[in-house]
Amino acid sequence: MPNCIFCKIINGEIPCSKVYEDEKVLAFNDINPEAPIHVLVIPKQHIESVLDLNQDNISITVDIFNAINKIAKELGIDKDGFRVVANTGVNGNQTVAHLHYHILGGRSLQWPPG
Ligand code: 5GP
Ligand code: ZN
Repeated sequence: MPNCIFCKIINGEIPCSKVYEDEKVLAFNDINPEAPIHVLVIPKQHIESVLDLNQDNISITVDIFNAINKIAKELGIDKDGFRVVANTGVNGNQTVAHLHYHILGGRSLQWPPG
């Protein structure tokens, strides 16, 4: 998608601080971290949001959660715990229309969120 900022990160047009990469998934540090650890995990395929997952592409969620599992252990937040968030749509405050999962950790997180 030509105007998608995360597609530009995937194709190298925009730099990122990479945390993890495999054939289908990329993870990088959020540019505006809300916690000591704030990583974004995205599919390399452009999918706009959770609502655009379907029978043809939903297997990417397995790849994404496998990546999240590895990243959490690699970053050492598996013991203390962390949060995985996929903001969706207007009320979810999704600002980038390319499916992404936030991994937030490194401190105690409040619930409910604001
Ligand atoms: P959303 O608000 O859609 O759930 O999350 C989008 C996230 O992408 C935000 O936390 C924002 O800080 C992050 N972000 C936006 N642009 C960039 C960028 O160019 N590089 C990186 N690393 N993160 C970005
Ligand atoms: Zn995209």
